Amino acid sequence: MTRSLADKLKDRIREAGPISVAEYMTICLLDPVRGYYPTRDPLGAEGDFITAPEISQMFGEVLGLWCVQSWIDLGRPDVLHLIEYGPGRGIMMSDMLRAASLDAGFKSAVNVSLIEASAALEAVQGRTLGTAGVPVQWVKKLEDVPDGPSLIIGNEFLDCLPIQQLICTDPFAGKDGWTERRVGLDEEDRLCFIKIDVPAAAVLTEKLPLGAREARTDDLLETCPSAAQIIDSLAQRFHQAPGRALFIDYGPDETEFGDTLQALKRHEKVGVFSDPGNTDLTARVDFAALSESAAAGDLTASAAVPQREFLSKLGLEMRAVALIRAKPEAKPVISRQLHRLTDDGEMGQLFKAICLSSNGLPLPLGLR
Ligand code: SAH
Repeated sequence: MTRSLADKLKDRIREAGPISVAEYMTICLLDPVRGYYPTRDPLGAEGDFITAPEISQMFGEVLGLWCVQSWIDLGRPDVLHLIEYGPGRGIMMSDMLRAASLDAGFKSAVNVSLIEASAALEAVQGRTLGTAGVPVQWVKKLEDVPDGPSLIIGNEFLDCLPIQQLICTDPFAGKDGWTERRVGLDEEDRLCFIKIDVPAAAVLTEKLPLGAREARTDDLLETCPSAAQIIDSLAQRFHQAPGRALFIDYGPDETEFGDTLQALKRHEKVGVFSDPGNTDLTARVDFAALSESAAAGDLTASAAVPQREFLSKLGLEMRAVALIRAKPEAKPVISRQLHRLTDDGEMGQLFKAICLSSNGLPLPLGLR
């Protein structure tokens, strides 16, 4: 009999006690046999969720222009490493390369490296990018990409990194005033959240965002140690050779309190314990915390700019007009795509772009 991922999680909890939210997320999303990403292509209308590059080719195309401008800002290096975290189906990279390759200098410089945890999606990316006409390789981590100037990009990648959840027990006790919320079992043997009654381990509280100081008793704070680790790796890389990293994701530009872990199945929100391994799990990205980690690593961070503003500065509307002129019958579709990407009630405000760079570069296109 095959055991479900829920059974596996329960065994683990019976054996080791309640597990951290980060471990829960990691097992659900990345377990090689039953995890969410390794076992399916979750994207698109037929899948569980849809992302900006899946909505419209225009998204990747204007980001391609951003890459060309950034390559120029880096001094037009002969070799440019274009690295993407969590490329999904490879659509954004494919659209970016199509637009950016119009610049022959960029095209001859670019080497693409993809960092993807799921073998299933890696195969899809291989098909999408097979005809890209530039070198493409897959790596396990940033450190595996050869040294040199680089542009790094991640769309809806940070939101699926595992978070930890902390609860404030004493606002005046500083680092000692936090306890952990973990995943355990209730009396009926169902997965549930459990507040642990000892102080959280020092590793979890030593680098809290500045906003944590505003916490009141029982406030829940989410932290993302994996994002902080990635920023450390970026900093190492950018201290060797100049570069920029652009992340686009959903979340506030100031640290906020509250539980934001959510599960999606077929475009609907479902319970985070409802079907482990078969639902997409994400949490909102704390852009203030990212920017603080970047500063700690001696990187320059832009403001976190709403997607609407960022895409508009990159010329999204102009691109839409050009596409409509070339194919007038597509106007209703293109207008709808534009609306989804930029309207305040859709992705326009909730999604933000932030750029973390090596020092001494000009302000990146579209950002403040
Ligand atoms: N960027 C794409 C896909 C977003 S979904 C888009 O915008 O459409 C998240 C992607 O990150 C998937 O490709 C998933 O397999 C990958 N991923 C999740 N966790 C990862 C990890 N720890 N390391 C590398 N890739 C990861």
